[in-house]
Amino acid sequence: MKVTDYFEKANGQTLISFEVLPPIKGGGIKSIFKTLDPLMEFKPPFIDVTYHREEYVYKANKNGYYEKTSIRKRPGTVGICTAIMHRYGVEAVPHLLCGGFTKEETEDVLIDLNFLSIKNVLALRGDARKFESSFSPTPGGHHYAIDLVRQIRNMNKGKYLDDNIEHGQKTNFCIGVAGYPEKHFEAPNMTTDLELTFDKIKAGGEYIVTQMFFDNKAYFNYLELCKKIGIHVPIVPGIKPLTKIYQLTSIPRFFHVNIPEELSKEVLKVKDDRKKVKEVGIEWCIHQSKELKAAGVPCIHYYTMGDSKTIRRIAEAVF
Ligand code: FAD
Repeated sequence: MKVTDYFEKANGQTLISFEVLPPIKGGGIKSIFKTLDPLMEFKPPFIDVTYHREEYVYKANKNGYYEKTSIRKRPGTVGICTAIMHRYGVEAVPHLLCGGFTKEETEDVLIDLNFLSIKNVLALRGDARKFESSFSPTPGGHHYAIDLVRQIRNMNKGKYLDDNIEHGQKTNFCIGVAGYPEKHFEAPNMTTDLELTFDKIKAGGEYIVTQMFFDNKAYFNYLELCKKIGIHVPIVPGIKPLTKIYQLTSIPRFFHVNIPEELSKEVLKVKDDRKKVKEVGIEWCIHQSKELKAAGVPCIHYYTMGDSKTIRRIAEAVF
């Protein structure tokens, strides 16, 4: 079933969903099941699986010199989606990126997904890789998420890349896109970012999943701004708890989001006690989740980062 159908069917009730990352180097489906098994009792109708583009690392060669090498650290998104659907009977949502794919390769992936009865995808651009100053599209690939949305939408209409093929089956993918309550870091301002997000919706995006945030005001304000410019699709808050002291700086650095003063003060008060830092982060996330649920959001999407114990505690307190 489509993710958006679940929102409709829920009739105002807040659903729960999770995001998992493929294990490093295909390291066994068991780690995915170990993360998800304890979370399935909360009945998520869908689970997202991230996609990870190849990365550059420096590796010593035979002569002891360091060379820039391309590695694929977390492959297996499509296989994991299929395994999730088989084991739990829920929808799996693969993340699709512009970066790393030609349009033809994207078409192949979409055809595979269609054969596998995967009905939902989250269409994303992807980030610049380490050692790149900004995102560079793969030659023959898409530059922005909107271009990927258009390709998927075209396939939903039976339009494939090669116009000579007349029997391209119509697919029926439900397309999700990303949104940024605190603005995408490359956008010159919030208005431009919102207009470009609206363009993704007009091109075929049917729901938005947000970047993580730690201050619900940012999300509620984002909802208002979206409504004002005419975005009326479901906007799913994506959140995760802060659980380690170093995340006070790493989260803003990697995800370009703010840590509210109140949270950072509470964390710093107990900074020498790892358990207490985690407690503060979990309590904060529970509070955030309860407020979001009380506000009637369509779904709360948890970024699990493989830590099912923590996410389970939060879900138990909220759902
Ligand atoms: P876009 O919508 O293409 O926007 C990128 C930037 O370009 C924005 O600043 C936007 O304002 C601007 N822009 C858009 N269109 C145009 C245009 N036509 N002209 C000029 N500027 C334009 N990354 C991964 O690698 N793997 C994942 O699995 C993954 N999952 C994610 C899930 C969620 C819910 C979110 C929020 C992010 C995820 N990301 C993932 C990170 C994402 O790839 C990055 O945030 C990336 O920098 C932007 O992706 P996007 O799809 O929002 O890009």
